[in-house]
Amino acid sequence: MPIINRVADLHQEITAWRRDLHAHPELQYDVQRTAAAVADKLKTFGCDEVVPGIGRTGVVGVIRGRKAGKKVIGLRADMDALPIEEETGLPYQSTVPGKMHACGHDGHTAMLLGAAKYLAETRNFAGTAVVIFQPAEEGGAGALAMVKDGLIGRFGIEEVYGMHNYPGLPLGEFAIRPGAIMASADHIAIDLEGKGGHAARPHLAVDTILVGAQIINALQSIVARNVDPLEAAVVSICMFQAGFTDNVIPQHAKLRGTARALTAEVRELLRKRVEEVVQGTARLYGAKAKITYTNGYPVVVNHERQTEFAASVAREIAGKDKVDTDVAPVMGAEDFAFMLNERPGAFIFVGNGDSAGLHHPAYDFNDETIPVGTSYWVRLAETALAR
Ligand SMILES: [Zn+2]
Ligand SMILES: [Zn+2]
Repeated sequence: MPIINRVADLHQEITAWRRDLHAHPELQYDVQRTAAAVADKLKTFGCDEVVPGIGRTGVVGVIRGRKAGKKVIGLRADMDALPIEEETGLPYQSTVPGKMHACGHDGHTAMLLGAAKYLAETRNFAGTAVVIFQPAEEGGAGALAMVKDGLIGRFGIEEVYGMHNYPGLPLGEFAIRPGAIMASADHIAIDLEGKGGHAARPHLAVDTILVGAQIINALQSIVARNVDPLEAAVVSICMFQAGFTDNVIPQHAKLRGTARALTAEVRELLRKRVEEVVQGTARLYGAKAKITYTNGYPVVVNHERQTEFAASVAREIAGKDKVDTDVAPVMGAEDFAFMLNERPGAFIFVGNGDSAGLHHPAYDFNDETIPVGTSYWVRLAETALAR
């Protein structure tokens, strides 16, 4: 069975929702308009419960099947946009300067709404489907906020599933893998203090630009020489600020970056070595370093059995040869990791075709993905809750 007929009928309606969300992007936890639209629709669909305000602006809908059953599964979408100036020129492009749905969360929300509509209409399953709409995926850990607000226990969720569109993966295809599929992402902040002075008297100064440069170089040795070459790791320093003019050695310098890994062990190794390398290098040159190393999102780890199950549902929708079950992990991060830390489940990629990349000003979610992703959600619920 490819696309579900009723879902194909809903394609236009879901597309209209998606484009409305696209035109009105909201950031982080400030997704009031989006969350209200989601809650309204869920009520109109006749969900048994619609609960707003979970994890500040998250929304949960509960749909009970018409057959007897106790199992509860969670299907999750994200609602937030990005602080990017849109450059698509589309008729439905962002109406808000400096904000844009450049990660396709408008599409994720619309597809899950479509599935909720279908599931509430048909209820052809035993047990309960919980649709989860979270805020603040882009750096705000909205998934964790919902978990901390009791999402899992309150609704009795036993398994949890997520989906993200994937530019470059052909339309109508899926990709997934068991185990680590996306990286942990931790934040590195380094503040250097040297000794400012005249550019012509470097011997009387401690040059924070030189120290910062040495630190950036030395940090690269961690991935090259401390991490097992068969493991994946990233250490990127993406910001280096120091100095104001050409004849003053600056007293202070600021470095900011990210460390990423696919296992908890490598993640811990990066933390330890970054600290040692920064402190050691600063000391070598007589500067002081303050490191603030902040844990971001954990590794997204797909559970074996649920991954196998998700892949079988995807094959049913897309066709046997359209589901890659051994996709290479991505070093990007996703806060769905926090939900997978609570309950077994799986995160799957769905093809967005040949589009601009995620977080690019020319990116757009592909509306032709809607029947594919919505059918996946519907069949996932009906199959997981079959009796
Ligand atoms: Zn994103
Ligand atoms: Zn995203």
